[in-house]
Amino acid sequence: QSQVAPGAGTGLMIKRATVRILEPLQTVRRVLPILWASARSLAIVTSVLLMLEIFFGLAVLFLIKRLIDALTANLAADGLIGGLEPVMVAVALTAGATLALLITRAVSGLAREAQGMRVADYVDRLIHNRAIAADLAFYESPLYFDTLQRARQSGNQRPAQVISNLLMMSKNIVMLGGVIVLLASISWMLLPVLLVAIVPALLVRLHFTRILYEWRKRRTQLERRAGYFDMLLTSDFSAKELRLNQLGPAFRDFYSDIRQTIRGEQFGINRRRALVEAIVGSVTTLVFFSALAYLAFQTAAGRTTVGDLVLFLLILQRAQSMGQELVGQVSRLFEDHLYINQLFDFLEVQPQITSPELPQALLEQKGVEVLMEGVSFTYPGCRELVLEDISLRISPGQIVALVGSNGSGKTSLIKLLCRLYDPTVGKVLVDGRDAREFNLEEYRSLFSVVFQDFGRYLSTVRDNIRFGDLNCPPGSSAIEEAARQAGAEEFIKLLPANYDTFLGRSFDGGVELSVGQWQKIALARAFLRPSRIAVLDEPTSAIDPNAEFELFENFRERIGGRSALLISHRLSTIRLADYIYVLDGGRIAEAGRHEELMERGGLYHQAFSRQGKYYREDRNGFAVPD
Ligand code: ADP
Repeated sequence: QSQVAPGAGTGLMIKRATVRILEPLQTVRRVLPILWASARSLAIVTSVLLMLEIFFGLAVLFLIKRLIDALTANLAADGLIGGLEPVMVAVALTAGATLALLITRAVSGLAREAQGMRVADYVDRLIHNRAIAADLAFYESPLYFDTLQRARQSGNQRPAQVISNLLMMSKNIVMLGGVIVLLASISWMLLPVLLVAIVPALLVRLHFTRILYEWRKRRTQLERRAGYFDMLLTSDFSAKELRLNQLGPAFRDFYSDIRQTIRGEQFGINRRRALVEAIVGSVTTLVFFSALAYLAFQTAAGRTTVGDLVLFLLILQRAQSMGQELVGQVSRLFEDHLYINQLFDFLEVQPQITSPELPQALLEQKGVEVLMEGVSFTYPGCRELVLEDISLRISPGQIVALVGSNGSGKTSLIKLLCRLYDPTVGKVLVDGRDAREFNLEEYRSLFSVVFQDFGRYLSTVRDNIRFGDLNCPPGSSAIEEAARQAGAEEFIKLLPANYDTFLGRSFDGGVELSVGQWQKIALARAFLRPSRIAVLDEPTSAIDPNAEFELFENFRERIGGRSALLISHRLSTIRLADYIYVLDGGRIAEAGRHEELMERGGLYHQAFSRQGKYYREDRNGFAVPD
């Protein structure tokens, strides 16, 4: 049992509460540099305009008091003692100040809007830069990927909102200070009235804002789950299964159940808030009218002026609305704090796979030798070894095949080869140097890779191929040559606008291709790239046997002197290779030429003799039913 002095607990609680209330102010510290970097001159302009707004706002209040005082002085004197002039001057001055206030407010709003747009674009750029720089590991780990999703969710408007909110907040604080001084000029006794009019309402609002903030923080997981079902119900990629398995109504109900829970909880908090606010409002009103009664009595007795009475009414009404605004602004700051932290979490992600400070130059010669030496690999945040003690060699111009069952680590090996990840143990060597010694982009330009989940860009055929090498001009014949090499030329010629046909059905006029046709486009993209090693991860899985035969018929010619690393389950493709590595559970189980491996009678032999039991190969090397 812990013994705590009775007072200590409360002290700690108060301290913790203040820390929580002050927490959002850290947001300010992080946002200001963004403001400064994105729109320096606009930041200065908005600040100056804001000060003018404050000045004119207070001036109007003060001038109204002066006007009424001038009027009542005349009335008391039973005639116009000073003539009409002072009154008219006072009216003119008040009108002038009001006009000036209106104009500054309009211009100031415009400036803030312009600033907001600039900040939003700047933040987009920050996010995009970070998204490009982040490691692949970032995208392959749900934990990190969530950070990006949340950062996007918070929107590019948030930082601008924080700034705008902050400016308005400081304006209100200064105005409130000014109003207090004005009020004190009538009577010091009125200050407590102002305090009662504003402070309790402020505290109540703050309290509930914090409760709502904490609640929302706890509820993000649930909201994301709801969002997930919403996405499943409305997206194209789940549309097929949703219909065939009749998942729609179930997902819709999951979604509405979650929403109902969330709504119920939120309404509960709002109901309590409404109740407390009503009580506080009643007390405030009571105090206000008591003060008014006191002031009316004083005015009737001639101890204060009518101007003072009007000023008091004006000020209290103004102060109340300002107080309310202030509370709204503080609660918004809390909310922004919640979102903007997610943005900053993402902006702080640092890539681990980087270029060294003094990179080695890659040799200019056409072919390179790639070696993997004792490479073992574990995905970040995971424990199992995916690859263990891998050593392999790809000599210049050589075609190497990787064979192995699903999950044996073939794709992971490719990712290591192109430095999408770095090995946990061991090295990848190019021309005898560790891959980590080269400039990252230069190193990656050694490879053209077709992954199983290759890109399908919603753009023209030409762009889809050209994205393999952006240095290639759009009109270049190299694009058509690459399409020819990939066996894509024939179907491209049948498309409505040939190479300028827009692909994918997401945009108007787009044409959807079959999986095999997309795969050929991806191959063309790989062929266009002036790389030295072609890496193809099951490049023909969706291509019919005839087309595959054509592709590999003169494969060596097609890859034009590059070396190649092929992953395939098809015997015809594998037989083409100069050397074959058989992966099993992340280790190299066997290696050699096709004939050697068949003779050896190991895994490789097993895999293909099992096929042989039901299939024999036709003269082109394809497995056909017996
Ligand atoms: P293959 O290409 O031979 O089918 P992979 O290289 O894709 O095999 O996968 C090998 C193993 O690595 C599998 O057990 C898989 O679960 C694991 N794995 C693949 N990608 C990731 C990842 N991004 N994070 C964690 N584990 C992964």
